[in-house]
Amino acid sequence: MIRIGAQVSVAGGMQLTLTEAKQTGLECLQIFSRSPVGGQSRGLPQSKQMAEWLAGAHIRPLFVHAPYFVNPAATDDAMHAKACQVLGDEMRRVRHLAGDFLVVHPGHQQTGSGPEEALDAFADTVVSLLSTRGRVLIENTAGQGKEVGSGFEDLARVFNAVGKTSRVGLMLDTAHAMAWGYPLTTADDWNRLCGLIGEYIGLARVKGVHLNDSMFAVGSRRDQHAALLTGYLGSEALQGIIATADLHSWPLILETPGKNAAARAADLEILRRTMRM
Ligand SMILES: [Zn+2]
Repeated sequence: MIRIGAQVSVAGGMQLTLTEAKQTGLECLQIFSRSPVGGQSRGLPQSKQMAEWLAGAHIRPLFVHAPYFVNPAATDDAMHAKACQVLGDEMRRVRHLAGDFLVVHPGHQQTGSGPEEALDAFADTVVSLLSTRGRVLIENTAGQGKEVGSGFEDLARVFNAVGKTSRVGLMLDTAHAMAWGYPLTTADDWNRLCGLIGEYIGLARVKGVHLNDSMFAVGSRRDQHAALLTGYLGSEALQGIIATADLHSWPLILETPGKNAAARAADLEILRRTMRM
């Protein structure tokens, strides 16, 4: 079974966001609980109220994307502590919103630290988050600049360090995967990628897919999403993604550039047409 969702803005308030999501046929959502680049965090509705709104709109799961202004892979003590504090706070905000998962990017290497140190620092951050109730999803990155956690062998290092727990899973971003160097043109490409995830991380740990096309070529390491089938994603690979998501009940989240309803409508149409094929 597939649940289709999208990253949506909550600028108009949570209740309006959920009503509009339901009207456009979205079945799951991803939101930011606060400005992703920093600033004062806003007040949130009560969790009981949120749970009622979510149930009324038949929306689940609710993913909350972590803000970007901290670096969870920081090796510097003060920066590492800051990341643990801000993201720990975000775990509490997910609970307050009756949400299901906090989605976290691994962050980036600081000058003077190697990729492995950065990955280990990130694993430490994830472990620190587990002292707060809730679940964390680690998202693979495009490898832009000094970003870590793009290849599945690198993410395996993090998952191994965190240890066996059902509270930490993977959010697979298809645009980031392509930007890093995994082609997604043919069905074979997709099957190969699933094979790698299975080998390094385990398909059971995948809890959702950010279904995005990439504006820049495979291996470009540039993180720029494109509307579906306008970039480097092939329609055969898209069919494969949908079939696998159906098999494993992976929610599909569109992070359409522009993140507005009009841009998203075209993506939703492509998705629904491909599902009928
Ligand atoms: Zn993403």
